[in-house]
Amino acid sequence: MRQKRAKSYKKQMNVYHYTFKFREPYQVIVDNEIVSTCSKSSYDITKGLTRTIQAENKPMITQCCIQALYDTKNQDAINLAKKFERRKCNHREVIAPGECIKSIVDINGENKHRYVVATQDLDLRRKLRQIPGVPLIYMNRSVMVMEPLSDASSKYSEEWERKKLTGGLNDLKAGKIIENNENEEEEDEKEGAVPAKKKRKGPKGPNPLSVKKKKKGEPSANEVKEDSEKKHRRRRKHKKSDEKQEVAEGEGENNGSANKDGEEKGGDEENE
Ligand SMILES: [Zn+2]
Repeated sequence: MRQKRAKSYKKQMNVYHYTFKFREPYQVIVDNEIVSTCSKSSYDITKGLTRTIQAENKPMITQCCIQALYDTKNQDAINLAKKFERRKCNHREVIAPGECIKSIVDINGENKHRYVVATQDLDLRRKLRQIPGVPLIYMNRSVMVMEPLSDASSKYSEEWERKKLTGGLNDLKAGKIIENNENEEEEDEKEGAVPAKKKRKGPKGPNPLSVKKKKKGEPSANEVKEDSEKKHRRRRKHKKSDEKQEVAEGEGENNGSANKDGEEKGGDEENE
């Protein structure tokens, strides 16, 4: 059970890392309540955070939160909190911890400083779920828990993936067609197959893994036509030596098949 949870937390932290650009050591804002809770149950909050986040992290506490702890006169909790770096919040008049934390995390609807927030304040967590990319941690009895990705975070993440994909497609189209398909286009125009071909080639480009795949199919069109050009291509490919093997295989395949069949086959492969 614990293992499963660790795995899902790791997955979640990857989203924060790649999509929301969190970097180690992750800054964790702890509130006074979670410090009290951990202190009361002798739960090692530092270890707990590292186990939950599974990466280097830096717990921090705001001035208002530590003031709230001073007010409790709970010396153990105060001592614990003192170990953490102080996060200046510049609230001259101490404000409620929940409001204080929200004010440093939510900068115009963005988690600008990329904080992880560890808080027992339900209301604060509810508010922070509205902001994309805020990892939320709390103590559930004696277990430290990370909330699943909020709807706002998931939505942002999906949008981001989509943009990345289509953005890459457009970039590639601009470069690749001019460079590689000049001759191909001339020939294809007779068949009126140009637009379809372009589309197929587009999406594969930005991802290096896909480029490999594409090469497999691509040479067929030119290859059939001109031997000399093929050699050029090969030379170019050799620079990317790790792909050599697969390219060679791909060419072999296409050599064997008939011209137009090979071309069509190439297209289909790309679609996979
Ligand atoms: Zn404050």
